[in-house]
Amino acid sequence: MLRDAVRSLAEAKIAPHAAAVDEEARFPREALDALVANDLHAVHVPEEYGGAGADALATVIVIEEVARVCASSSLIPAVNKLGSLPVILSGSEALKKKYMAPLAKGEGMFSYCLSEPDAGSDAAGMKTRAVRDGDFWVLNGVKRWITNAGESEFYTVMAVTDPEKRSKGISAFVVEKGDPGVSFGAPEKKLGIKGSPTREVYLDNVRIPADRMIGEEGTGFATAMKTLDHTRITIAAQALGIAQGALDYAKGYVKERKQFGKPIADFQGVQFMLADMAMKIEAARQLTYAAAAKSERGDSDLTFQGAAAKCFASDVAMEVTTDAVQLLGGYGYTRDYPVERMMRDAKITQIYEGTNQVQRIVMARNLP
Ligand SMILES: Cc1cc2nc3c(=O)[nH]c(=O)nc-3n(C[C@H](O)[C@H](O)[C@H](O)COP(=O)(O)OP(=O)(O)OC[C@H]3O[C@@H](n4cnc5c(N)ncnc54)[C@H](O)[C@@H]3O)c2cc1C
Repeated sequence: MLRDAVRSLAEAKIAPHAAAVDEEARFPREALDALVANDLHAVHVPEEYGGAGADALATVIVIEEVARVCASSSLIPAVNKLGSLPVILSGSEALKKKYMAPLAKGEGMFSYCLSEPDAGSDAAGMKTRAVRDGDFWVLNGVKRWITNAGESEFYTVMAVTDPEKRSKGISAFVVEKGDPGVSFGAPEKKLGIKGSPTREVYLDNVRIPADRMIGEEGTGFATAMKTLDHTRITIAAQALGIAQGALDYAKGYVKERKQFGKPIADFQGVQFMLADMAMKIEAARQLTYAAAAKSERGDSDLTFQGAAAKCFASDVAMEVTTDAVQLLGGYGYTRDYPVERMMRDAKITQIYEGTNQVQRIVMARNLP
């Protein structure tokens, strides 16, 4: 029922704008409005904080179905989970109450600020500093590649509180868009997910109350990594949705397109490609849903499974979308058809929330 409901909404309210959002590289406002109106913008927020209380699998299905028509729009529910999960996992009761209610109501989105210009895969090498000043912390630094920066009201920011201790000297904070000293860089000009703003976040003497720290001092990096264990599964869902969208489009096209006097769907070479695409998507789906169940239960092998789902599903998305372009021939290579957008959008799923090389490092360290 959830899948049917999200699919109908996505096809009616989000799909019609997907090409323009990509072409104009603009934020998918129509998608945000439709998701908020249907309480699908941040489904993971627990009911006790005013949210829809969706479990990890339901959240995955929402993201998958939105990504099937518009990958940029799927970053609304996905990044709302990424940005707010540190508070849900490690924040004080007061922080949860304060920030989950506006998120659930659709009054403000949440972004996640871990990466920096010189700290990507090696995120613990970050330089952003937080220095204590009485009942306040003062933050200075630059966060890079922040999804929905400028659009979000709330930002989970990881910063160094004790430079001697490397990852154990990093703490997490909630920063608000309106805090004096917060500003944003120009939107990055990207290959894909062009509707999802990616900008730098500048922190210039941002003075915030000490109770905005998420969890204990020095636990921010652990919280950031624990968050990714759960949210990499949402990137797997996004990849899955993009791949399914490309397969669905190609499936319809090959029945219409005629060459050599018959639909190209009649050629076994084409049928075998479609069979492989569907097989890979189904394998990615099973891995992703199993990982979502593990996320919900907090299983001990979640770290491996989350990395495996993200890595596998994103590789599948890249292969399937490339094959979809191939099945449309020259038409697939143009913006008159959606599969080239899907191919460009798929690429990011192999890069963010840790590149697929990093996923393999994570898997190798946590072999089942
Ligand atoms: C569109 C977009 C949105 C993003 N959104 C966010 C966000 O909201 N919040 C956020 O915090 N970050 C975000 N990111 C950042 C993203 O997570 C990083 O780009 C990613 O982790 C890679 O870091 P990097 O770009 O610095 O690449 P690098 O770390 O410089 O990696 C370059 C290459 O080296 C490889 N490499 C690095 N180390 C190793 C190793 N040990 N072994 C093998 N290979 C290695 C990588 O796999 C990669 O191929 C986003 C990025 C993009 C492009």
